[in-house]
This record gives sequence, structure tokens and C-alpha cells, in this order.
Amino acid sequence: MKLSVPFIPDTVYAKILAQKKADLASVYFCLHSGPMLDARVQSTPVDPSLFVKTLGRLTGIKPYCLLNSRFIRPDLYLDDLFLSRTLDTLQKLHETIGLQGIVFSDLYLIHALSRTGHGLISHLEAVPGINMMTDTAPKAFFLLDAIRKTGFRLPGKLVLDRSLNRDFHGLERTVRGIRQAYPRMGIELMANEGCLLHCPFKLTHDAQISLSNTGLVQEQTHRISHTLGCHDTFFHHPHLFLSAPFIRPEDMHAYAGLADTIKISGRTLGPKFLGKVTAAYTQRSFDGNLLELMDATGFLADTYYIDNKKLGPDFLDTLANCDKFCQKCGICRELFTHAARKQPITIKPYKDKQ
Ligand code: SF4
Repeated sequence: MKLSVPFIPDTVYAKILAQKKADLASVYFCLHSGPMLDARVQSTPVDPSLFVKTLGRLTGIKPYCLLNSRFIRPDLYLDDLFLSRTLDTLQKLHETIGLQGIVFSDLYLIHALSRTGHGLISHLEAVPGINMMTDTAPKAFFLLDAIRKTGFRLPGKLVLDRSLNRDFHGLERTVRGIRQAYPRMGIELMANEGCLLHCPFKLTHDAQISLSNTGLVQEQTHRISHTLGCHDTFFHHPHLFLSAPFIRPEDMHAYAGLADTIKISGRTLGPKFLGKVTAAYTQRSFDGNLLELMDATGFLADTYYIDNKKLGPDFLDTLANCDKFCQKCGICRELFTHAARKQPITIKPYKDKQ
């Protein structure tokens, strides 16, 4: 099973990826100029020539561009200049690095791009992002029909909702249904997001990030998560992390035959983090603090050390087969007590956060 990994224009990280090319299926990245069109808060401007140069090391690996914001500033949907400039930028990437497609979470944006009649449309796959939460075959069919109507190419892969990672019956049913209708469709699962299972904050969090990226309001998403959202939940109930639908490197084999590729997340956490995570998932083993592999819950690593090896070989089997009625079950709490310990308080140099 190959990996789909974030790409950031860092020469050391690009070298690591080049060494692991045989393990990679695709890379994905955001546009580093123009209005924010991807699902993360802000990104720092990047020298376009460095971007093309570093990505150029990865010939043969499919590149995808993230246009996966939940929504964009409303006037931009009808702004022909903005839409054609965006497509011109994508065209340059198509010509220089062989851009394969875009990843989206907002069908309005796909329709808006389609309406320009730009010649690039029919050359790019439109891949529904994980935040489209595709968790049944019928949902996938409706999405694919919607894409077909826009003139974009149908995606070569579907990224299924993370909730299916801990629901093998649902995963098997969904994959079987999709493959019966679309035998060549690739199936991708997200490994290391680390968000709450069926996160009740999810849709609002996505919307808050998009609102922040419009520039119309001040960025406060971290503060809100910390005081009212999942960060607060995890600080008060850290054992809930174990019920989050992550896939450990050791457990990838359980998805063989169901998924074709595993997606790694964490593109805003810097090259050191991404190098470590890519190494763990290519080796399919990690001897260390499991939280250090996580994207959304990585912040907990400063407070807790979860010894990944202590979770044991039955971890996935136990968590995938429970009834998810956590209120009456103490298994995750017991496992957490067994495998986790509190970290001593230390002050890290700022660069170690990168
Ligand atoms: S039901 Fe038990 S084992 Fe399953 S996620 Fe909840 S606490 Fe964990």
C-alpha cells in the first residue's frame, strides 16, 4: 500500500521523499499565492521557483493541488478574473510538474471554475476531499455524478471518511459498492489526522477556518478549539484520543485489499514532523510517542507520552469491534492508563515546534 503525502517546498524534506519514491503514490500541496483556497489557516508565501525545483525531484509521483476550503469569499464565485487566474496558475503547474488534479470540498467552487470554459478543466481530476465525508457507496455515486456534470475528469481515487477506519463492516460495504460500479477507482484512507471519532465540532471548525481565510474576520480558530472545542475535550479526557479513528503504522496491513493508498496529513507542521511521519508509515512501525505522529492531536504530545508499542498487537481489533458506547465502556481509559504517562514540563526552543 503506497502513501499519499503532503508536499512542502523544503529541500531536506524533498530529498527524503525522493529517497522514498517507491513508497509514494501521490503528493498534495496548497497554492502559495492568491486568496486562500485550501482548508488550513494561512500559509507562508513560497518562492515559486523553489516549489517547482523541489517538486521536480518527484517525477512519476502524481501531484494534486488542494482547493479544499469549505467555502470561499462569496464574491469570488462570480469573479471571472479570479477564477481564470486560478486556472492559469493550475495550468502552469500542469505544464511544469504534470499536475494531475485538484482536491475540493466545495462544489460551488468546482462549478464556478467549470463555468469559465477554461481549456484546462477537462485535463484535471476533481477529487472530493476527505471533508466531503464520503462514507457510503451511494454518496460516492452522487458525488461522482456531480463531478461528471462539471466537465472535470472523474477522480482516479476517492478518499473515504475517517470514521470508516474503525468500522470494517461499513468500510467493506462501501468499498465493495464503489468497486462494483467503478472497478478502477482507487480507495484512499487517512492515517494520522487524530480528530475525535464522528467529531461533533468538525463542520463548524471547517467553516470557521474558511471564514478566517476570507480575511473578513480575525483568525481565532485555535483559541476557540482550545477553550470550547476538541482541544479542551482532549485536555479533560485524554483517553478519548484512543477512540479517534487514526491508523497506526503497524495496523496498515489490516486495510490491505480495502484501501489502495494511505494518506498522511500534517502539512502545516513542518518538514521535521513530516519526515518522521513518512518514515514511520513507510517502515510500518513506530517506537515512540504515538501523539508525535498525529496532525490535529500532536499538541497533546507536550503533555502525554503514549508508548505506541505498549498499545499492543490487538489494539485495532479491540477498537474496531467495540460498540462505540464509550459511556458504559472503560477500555480506552484502561488502555490509556497502561500505555500513557504525563510528560515532565519543559520549555522547548521555538524551532523544535517546526
Ligand atoms: S466503546 Fe470502549 S473501546 Fe470503544 S471507543 Fe468507546 S471506550 Fe474505546
